[in-house]
Amino acid sequence: MSGSERSGPVVARFAAQAHRSRGRLHSEPEPIGRSAFQRDRDRIVHSTAFRKLLYKTQVFVNHEGDLFRTRLTHSLEVAQIARSVARRLRLDEELTEAICLAHDLGHTPFGHAGQHALNQALRETTAGQSGFEHNLQSLRVVDRLEQRYANFDGLNLTFETREGILKHCSASLACELGEVAQRFIKGESPSLEAQLANVADEVAYNHHDLDDGLRSGLLVFEEVIEQPLVAPHVRRLQQTHPQLSRHRLMAEVIRGMINEQVDDLTLTTEQRLTSRGIEDDRDVRQQAEALVAFSSEMGQQVLDLKRFLRQRLYRHPRVLDMTDVAERVIQDLFGWLMSEPMDADDQRSPHRRAADEIAGMTDRYAALTHATVFPGRACWPSPIGQ
Ligand code: MG
Repeated sequence: MSGSERSGPVVARFAAQAHRSRGRLHSEPEPIGRSAFQRDRDRIVHSTAFRKLLYKTQVFVNHEGDLFRTRLTHSLEVAQIARSVARRLRLDEELTEAICLAHDLGHTPFGHAGQHALNQALRETTAGQSGFEHNLQSLRVVDRLEQRYANFDGLNLTFETREGILKHCSASLACELGEVAQRFIKGESPSLEAQLANVADEVAYNHHDLDDGLRSGLLVFEEVIEQPLVAPHVRRLQQTHPQLSRHRLMAEVIRGMINEQVDDLTLTTEQRLTSRGIEDDRDVRQQAEALVAFSSEMGQQVLDLKRFLRQRLYRHPRVLDMTDVAERVIQDLFGWLMSEPMDADDQRSPHRRAADEIAGMTDRYAALTHATVFPGRACWPSPIGQ
């Protein structure tokens, strides 16, 4: 019996099977007392890119305050939500967790503003031949950029974890990437664990952005509690606990919303697995449509909440002010790095080197570097509430 077969809970036949992993890019002896996916998870937690998530943000830039989510706490919340569902569906919790913890490793500083600016800069420099996409960069981090092992670049993760990290990919790029991206050419699905990580990402950010949006004062409480997903929980709590403070009320409401969505996701996925006659992990792969999904009613309410967050939070004038400065900083840093000499043994193109360097920066490192190279050029809005 191999090390990977010895450890870990029993999973359903439709789950990814650690002992039948399609392997690593560089062959290594099997881990002792851990499954292959558990080793992937452990390698991700020990990586430099994972530690940097503490100082990267998505909506609120790092200097805004200590109370807002960072990409590290976001990734932990994604993993926690996904593991709850994975356990109920008897999926492989370790693979689920590995994908969740790695899914944002390639994110730029300053959240979506950073990604947008870096993508633009790359496209302009390469006449549209090359761009920046954070989940491709996450794969690049685990395959190449981490440098911690004597025998190989990257973390040398299993195929299943790498495939789960690669959420989207164009057909032309899929040809370049080879086996890990084959499903985009064949029209197949990834493991249930990868599908679950994807949905859990959405559940996590919808709820923590709602929470951070209220705490920052950018979202209006009276508008939030009218949202179709939110309102029934508010009514229930106002009946059972009429004296509850607004802070505790919203914490309970968000807890109730996440539980409700976890239940809906679990039940709907179980029904789909049954109705489509899914028996094993090979059947999962043959499906053109995702099996891990909300019911149509819940899916619609989640879409409504996302629309509300987009209008009221992500496009809030205060967030847009921050976005403008963040984009300027990334553009400046890209131009500066393009003019810096390359190391003689660096095989990358100058634009890819610049993109890797920028994507590897934390919010505060990028802001500090910019302030040093371009003093006085970035005029950040003062932190919220000050
Ligand atoms: Mg995410």
